[in-house]
Amino acid sequence: MGVNILTASGRPTTLGDDAVQQLSASVAGTVLTALSPGYAEARMVWNAMIDRRPALIVQCTSTDDVEATVRFARQHNLVIAVRGGGHNIAGNALVDDGLVIDLSKMQNVTVDPATKRARVEPGATLAVFDAATQQHGLATPVGVNSTTGIAGLTLGGGFGWLSRSLGLTIDNLLSADVVLANGTRVTASATENADLFWGIRGGGGNFGIVTSFEFQLHKVGPEVLSGLVVHPIDDAKKVLSFYRDFVETTPEEFVCWFVMRKAPPLPFLAPEWHGKEILVLAMIWSGDIAKGEEVMKPLRSFGKPIADVVGPTPFVGWQQALDPLLTPGQRNYWKSHDFASVSDGLIDTLIDAARHIPDPQTEIAFVQLGGAVSRVAHEATAYNHRDGKFVMNIHGRWADAANDAKCVAWARGLFQATVPFSTGSVYVNFMSQDEPERVKAAYGANYDKLVALKTKYDPTNLFRVNQNISPAKAATPAV
Ligand SMILES: Cc1cc2nc3c(=O)[nH]c(=O)nc-3n(C[C@H](O)[C@H](O)[C@H](O)COP(=O)(O)OP(=O)(O)OC[C@H]3O[C@@H](n4cnc5c(N)ncnc54)[C@H](O)[C@@H]3O)c2cc1C
Repeated sequence: MGVNILTASGRPTTLGDDAVQQLSASVAGTVLTALSPGYAEARMVWNAMIDRRPALIVQCTSTDDVEATVRFARQHNLVIAVRGGGHNIAGNALVDDGLVIDLSKMQNVTVDPATKRARVEPGATLAVFDAATQQHGLATPVGVNSTTGIAGLTLGGGFGWLSRSLGLTIDNLLSADVVLANGTRVTASATENADLFWGIRGGGGNFGIVTSFEFQLHKVGPEVLSGLVVHPIDDAKKVLSFYRDFVETTPEEFVCWFVMRKAPPLPFLAPEWHGKEILVLAMIWSGDIAKGEEVMKPLRSFGKPIADVVGPTPFVGWQQALDPLLTPGQRNYWKSHDFASVSDGLIDTLIDAARHIPDPQTEIAFVQLGGAVSRVAHEATAYNHRDGKFVMNIHGRWADAANDAKCVAWARGLFQATVPFSTGSVYVNFMSQDEPERVKAAYGANYDKLVALKTKYDPTNLFRVNQNISPAKAATPAV
């Protein structure tokens, strides 16, 4: 019967049963076709708007499995996608009618407390990573939703609550093991294949499949001072005007992101606020708790908050605090810009959009960066936009497909309205599937070097289901 599958040149072909059996025999993991038990679950990703049906999914359990699958894909000239945690908003973990190299079963994390280093397999989620490192009172900066995959997050750059003091996730990457397009395995670090190491720090999955990450860890927690301060949207102008000046003065252990949304029915919000538009300040101090109380005081006591739930919290708990609002299985559409500042005009535009938020799950989120992130030179890693002090994520999110048009239109409208205030750059990990023309903007002055690197390591563009950097020459079949 065989399996109908797409080639890298876009033409359909059929793999005979013998070829599929040969693939199964060459890996220790499981090979799924559309008829296999577990296929439906294996083709689900975080964003329910992504509905792709791969022809084959190889659930790898080792680097040997990854190598064997890459060799098989090359031998049969197949189009492939690579899956880490499956969180990418653009759905790049999956490819219709192609072969998915699924790393989500490879979740091992080993920590060496003496050297403060961790070795991490690419299927680990942030929850798995944080749990393993915090056992030793250690951490490195990663994202704010614990079900995100460490792999995709790291390869795009990676930022979170610790980034102002400890840098991006990639600033703490010491080395990585990579399976290249030619099927060989190499290590990339500052001293080995240094050009590849430069490229995987922000260049996404364009250059190979990472099968192991090695991170530098730092002493963090086990408790941090963190939580939320909530204001009515009517007070957002004066609160954000104060906020933007205040965060210029604070030490780097203090980080405060802000969110505009409709108030969810959470127990710490009085019922009369539920469903009304609010401004949420989400803050953390990762140093000494008593000092943090002093640092945060002016912001927490400004204006008339309707809730203040800031207090000492286990770091792993704060890393998961937003999870209930970011569960998988909802429909999501994102648009993003970087900003150098939060100007009056930007605040007015955001408040106006917040008053027209189309769904109770939709939000406008602002990430605060700067600090250690900005101290690394632009050309030191593929991630380029280190002077963007704020990253906006217009997070369109809703349950019902009937609301697609309304919610997408609102997100695009706010995106356009905020163009005049933005730096013109964008975080590659926040890009949707419909904006490939922005890849160049995502890499800015580093783009040409990335093209040269892609041409060297993946001249046939085997790794193309991502925010793709095309090799210099036209892609030829990957045989
Ligand atoms: C709810 C939510 C919250 C988020 N919060 C943050 C945040 O706080 N900070 C932040 O920086 N980002 C954040 N992100 C963005 C996140 O970094 C990206 O979605 C990232 O792509 C997720 O990685 P993944 O492994 O889960 O995704 P996947 O969809 O599995 O993969 C993403 C991309 O990486 C490639 N890839 C995955 N693994 C490998 C590998 N081992 N080798 C080569 N290529 C690989 C894939 O092919 C794909 O192109 C968030 C995303 C979501 C959905």
